[in-house]
Amino acid sequence: MKTKAEYEKYKKSVEGFFKREGISNLSQIQDKDGYCEPHFSGIPCECCGGMLGGDRYDCNSYNPKTKGIQEYTVCTDCVYYAEYGQLDDMTMEQINQMHIARYEEENSYFPTIWYQQRMSEVEK
Ligand SMILES: [Zn+2]
Repeated sequence: MKTKAEYEKYKKSVEGFFKREGISNLSQIQDKDGYCEPHFSGIPCECCGGMLGGDRYDCNSYNPKTKGIQEYTVCTDCVYYAEYGQLDDMTMEQINQMHIARYEEENSYFPTIWYQQRMSEVEK
């Protein structure tokens, strides 16, 4: 699971990758039957640099500068991100919920401070 900060870091890595490679999208390479079968790999994702072993998809992309097709092996997250500009709904919801939970946690100190201020006023 990713936190908001981790997600921001992830986004930066992916955007950095696109910039570095001079490409703007990733397309999954289909086999002769039209399927995009993932394969398990422990090699880091070429797009986000994710070290976690897992499903990898073979993708390619057209580079307008070199006018060539470049191939990459990327993780499930990056395939989704390249397609939709964000991660899947469930992951996004988890990120947002964790963010709200943390926000509430941080702001729950507020009543304590308020209480202490009131108490010090009373003592004057
Ligand atoms: Zn990735």
